[in-house]
Amino acid sequence: MVIYIYNADFKFIGGVVMKVLSFLKDLFGFRRDSKYVRKHLNDANIRSSIYMAFIIICLEIWMIFRQTRKYIRPAWDTLKVGSYEYSSKLQLIFGWVGLYCLFIICSLAMFMFGLFYVLKKRGKKSFITNSVFGSLCIIWSLLLIPEINLPTYNDGTLINKTTTIMVYSSMAVFGISIIGNSLYSKFKGKDNMLLSIFVIVCFAAVCLLFGVKVGYSDFANPFVKDDGNVNIQKIKMITCFLTMITFVACLLIFKPYISIIMLTGIFVVFGMFLENYDKREFLEADRINYITFFVSLTTITISIYHQRITEALKDEQLVHDANFDSLTGIHNFHNFVTSINQKLEKNPAFLDDKLYLFINICNFKTINTQKGFGYGDKFLARLAKDVEASFPRDFSARLADDHFCVLTKVDGYEDKIAVLEKLVKCEAEGLYILLKVGGYKAERNENINRAIDKARYACGKIKKTYAEIYNEYNAELDKLFTMRQYIVNNLDEAIEKGYIRAHYQPVVWSNDKKLCGAEALARWIDPIYGYISPRDFIPVLEETRLIHKLDEYMLDLITKEMKNAKDNNKPIVPVSVNFSRLDFELMDVKKELNERVNKYNLDKNFIHIEITESALSENPVLLNKTIEELNKEGYAIWLDDFGSGYSSLSTLKDFVFDVVKIDMKFLTNFEKNEKTKDTLDCIISLASRLGMKTLTEGVETQAEADFLNEIGCGRLQGYLFGKPLPIDEFDNEISNGNIEISDNLI
Ligand code: C2E
Ligand code: CA
Ligand code: CA
Repeated sequence: MVIYIYNADFKFIGGVVMKVLSFLKDLFGFRRDSKYVRKHLNDANIRSSIYMAFIIICLEIWMIFRQTRKYIRPAWDTLKVGSYEYSSKLQLIFGWVGLYCLFIICSLAMFMFGLFYVLKKRGKKSFITNSVFGSLCIIWSLLLIPEINLPTYNDGTLINKTTTIMVYSSMAVFGISIIGNSLYSKFKGKDNMLLSIFVIVCFAAVCLLFGVKVGYSDFANPFVKDDGNVNIQKIKMITCFLTMITFVACLLIFKPYISIIMLTGIFVVFGMFLENYDKREFLEADRINYITFFVSLTTITISIYHQRITEALKDEQLVHDANFDSLTGIHNFHNFVTSINQKLEKNPAFLDDKLYLFINICNFKTINTQKGFGYGDKFLARLAKDVEASFPRDFSARLADDHFCVLTKVDGYEDKIAVLEKLVKCEAEGLYILLKVGGYKAERNENINRAIDKARYACGKIKKTYAEIYNEYNAELDKLFTMRQYIVNNLDEAIEKGYIRAHYQPVVWSNDKKLCGAEALARWIDPIYGYISPRDFIPVLEETRLIHKLDEYMLDLITKEMKNAKDNNKPIVPVSVNFSRLDFELMDVKKELNERVNKYNLDKNFIHIEITESALSENPVLLNKTIEELNKEGYAIWLDDFGSGYSSLSTLKDFVFDVVKIDMKFLTNFEKNEKTKDTLDCIISLASRLGMKTLTEGVETQAEADFLNEIGCGRLQGYLFGKPLPIDEFDNEISNGNIEISDNLI
């Protein structure tokens, strides 16, 4: 028991100690920062040094005025200040303002360097400017070497000489750092963070040493009055030191421990200078002030550092969110585009040997339904990592859902896809998913979105084939793709300008071949492309989820034409209208139908709704509900293309239809293949046993028609009885007796 408590206490204390340690580690900046945070801090330092350089320039100009007015001008003729003699006017000027001028040049160099850095200018102009200012710093500091022996500074103290030498050397090193940095940026085309940190550190050193030097000289130099008496009252002019220190501490923030080391070093050394000068000690009050000042400054540096780091971390998170996909953790499309554009800016030939890939994990949705969304999300994240791993050093990103995009080299892309395929197979663990990849050879000035669309298009073409994994965009696909873009971009105009019309194909009773209805089929007669087949534009409109626009318009057109026929006392027959599966998601079919039927006062019996079989297998719940509703409203529902899909029989079992339209593919090889007849026979018996009527499409020969009549198929449709025709021609066929209307239309 005792041991247990002891252990628990020990654990508790251990935990507290660890927490305190980790707090201190954070407080003093010992943790490892990410590259982003380091850059953020460095950029903040560079921005600060621009302000600092500006303030120093102003201060030093003021100082030069002051020195000129106070010392140079009065001494100009006698060349004598106090007890000091100058051999020339140049020496007089140099002695009083040389150092200030050099400090201004350093600050100008820093100012220009900072501006170019912030504006990301790495061209010739910035290189020349930086080099000129950097060289001036070096040359001027060399010029000032003789000044060490000037009387102003030659008071014989070693400290004074040492500080002078240190200031000049730091200024020369600063000049070298500026030149080195701009050389690197010019030739490498990018900045080097370490070099730019070095520039800032040098600038900080210049400022601090300048503060020490000027502060100390003012403090230490005995001032000789005009009457020749030495002013033994020391002028404790340490304000310059304190000003510089404050500047550096508040503006140039390094990691807290570095700042503290720098500040401690400089305060201790300067404090020793002051204490030891002339063997006099600090007054106690001064010492307290001095230490308080030091403590305040260190606290300020820590606090500013933490403010900056919090800002940096927030910023990093924002940048991360903007560039990474939250579900999978890999890059998003925004990042994909910006990274490629950045590469292109530097090298316009970057895309020359590259291939865009669109990757689709087919059948992924079934995983969500089988195993739940939680599993699906994790699974997708693993797949995303697989994509990244299969294309190392390439650009990859998640587009949306189970779609990814990659930019890879043309050389060796097959191997990388093979690796991905293996990885996907491993992940699948018995689940049925398929990898499909579309490729598009990149072109220089092509929009990235469009390039990915083309790769996606190529991928879409092999979606339904089992064996093919990769399909590359080619000239043939390009034609189709261009057409597809045309369809999408021009649908609205085609509707508005009436390029899309309804053609009607006769439906007849099989016993007397008299007309009992018509199927309305969309026709797009385009001013540029001429006739565009619905087999081309319907799938495109479905893929792009625009199909409801067409079908709503068709419904409008058909009901208007029925109303016109009614108004003009022309015969009207029931019309079958084609609806796509997506219409039931994208529009309120019942509402649209009722609106028009009521508006034009039509009979609901005269509108048949055709829904294709494949639509039913894809969204059974929603469709079943809608079918029931429409049935209740009084519309007849016809099952289109029966037998063309994979689940025909179960469709018959699960839904109720008025008429089953048997797909025209059953009539291919009608004469040669004996099984055709048996199959048709069975389908028709099955439908009638289930209480549904039948219609066979694509009837082209008399033999087919006779046979279908014999086995009891109620309605027939096909070229034998008429091709789809515009309303006027359809009416003509009726009025000139080529088509005879049945008395029984329902
Ligand atoms: P579908 O509903 O199965 O329409 C029958 C298609 O077979 C029509 O092609 C028609 O012209 C053609 N056809 C009719 N009789 C024969 C024949 O004896 N022999 C042969 N070889 N073909 C025959 P179309 O007009 O090209 O339409 C193709 C498909 O486009 C339609 O198939 C339908 O699924 C879709 N579609 C047409 N109009 C619309 C529409 O307004 N809305 C929607 N959603 N889909 C439409
Ligand atoms: Ca149809
Ligand atoms: Ca059909």
